[in-house]
Amino acid sequence: MTKQFDSLWLPYAQMKTVVPPYRVVRAEGVKLYFDDGTALIDGISSWWCVIHGYNHPVLNKAVQEQLAKFAHVMLGGLVNDAAIKLAETLVRITPFGLNHVFFGDSGSVGVEIALKMAIQFWRNQGFPQKSRFVALRRGYHGDTTGAMSVSDDDEGMHRLFKGAILPQYFVDAPGGPNIESDESQASLGQLEELLRANNSQIAAVILEPIFQGAGGFRFYPPEYLFCARRLCDEHKVLLIFDEVATGFGRTGALFAADLANVTPDIMVLSKALTGGYFGLSATIATSQVYESFLGDDPELAFMHGPTFMGNAVACAVALASISLIETENYLSKIKAIEKVLIEEFHGLDGPSLCDARVLGAIGVLEFESPSNLMGFREFGRDRGVWLRPYGKWLYTMPPYIIDEDDLRLVTAVMKEWLLYQGKCI
Ligand SMILES: *Cc1c(COP(=O)(O)O)cnc(C)c1O
Repeated sequence: MTKQFDSLWLPYAQMKTVVPPYRVVRAEGVKLYFDDGTALIDGISSWWCVIHGYNHPVLNKAVQEQLAKFAHVMLGGLVNDAAIKLAETLVRITPFGLNHVFFGDSGSVGVEIALKMAIQFWRNQGFPQKSRFVALRRGYHGDTTGAMSVSDDDEGMHRLFKGAILPQYFVDAPGGPNIESDESQASLGQLEELLRANNSQIAAVILEPIFQGAGGFRFYPPEYLFCARRLCDEHKVLLIFDEVATGFGRTGALFAADLANVTPDIMVLSKALTGGYFGLSATIATSQVYESFLGDDPELAFMHGPTFMGNAVACAVALASISLIETENYLSKIKAIEKVLIEEFHGLDGPSLCDARVLGAIGVLEFESPSNLMGFREFGRDRGVWLRPYGKWLYTMPPYIIDEDDLRLVTAVMKEWLLYQGKCI
């Protein structure tokens, strides 16, 4: 690696051999502009969060207007209008029953807050032994230690840490690769058995509803959530939805929970919350969860409070982002993206292609092995698109404002890779 990056330690990268990253000097709409004059279409929304594209005038204005007043005040003893209004807005747009918003600064922290909230919910009611979690295999919930503990322990990126983090319970991932596949029964059977045998130890079940992201880019049917909800109620265990990736339209509904008409006890939002402008998370609880923290004993209070909680600029831009989603009919934009992706991926075939699948604004090509995707970055760059394959998956999760031509260019490059791969073998 060139000397110029010695100081900057890059994510998930072997710094000794990492290919130097592209240097972005400007970004506008769906396009990234590099210092060598190249412009690429961003097909993955900068890790799924830049849903309105870059340098959006409405979001920029929201930032500037808040900045002209102040950037940040602590949320201990002080509040700001943007945080109050964003909490009210999130309560309005999330599934009915989620009424209380606790802000954090990233998806992982939002998950930590949810886990801690679930543990204290039971402590406050005299069940301190209910402190473990059930999670799905192939799940991914973040990089901090609590979030790692509920992410897939064998297949995920954190297997190195096995033994160093809290052990949790796991059940098989539901579904097959597609939302239509119905292989959920085995997973639900395992869940029922686990809850029956261990519910005195278990605080909550945590899962990514409908779409498992970084753990395998898989979809599963909404009925699973419905059944999981019933099992959790039956066995007195909370249900946490990690909608960090699915929130704000990615699966085709505003929230994946909406596809199943299920309200979790706690929901976590982050990635697209600020349209990719700032780190911000919202952990949203039902009144039942919230009320377990009320009382005359100060020990009942939720013992959490990140320094940058409720940052005013982040909250202001989140409000502007949600308002764009609501006023510019984003769900129909997402439907249009889904239609193009389905059309483009229909009947795909390739020597090392295992599956092609689409849901909402998510298009995934699954290959036999990560080696099938070696060299894709330069291939994509030479053809005008920025995609970052992860493991054996080549996927697109574009900004929702992408136009049809640009989207078809992204899928054309993905499809051309199949042919190119074919030629190599
Ligand atoms: C990205 C992601 C996280 C972690 O969010 P960070 O902001 O990277 O900490 C947690 N859960 C899911 C489902 C995610 O996709």
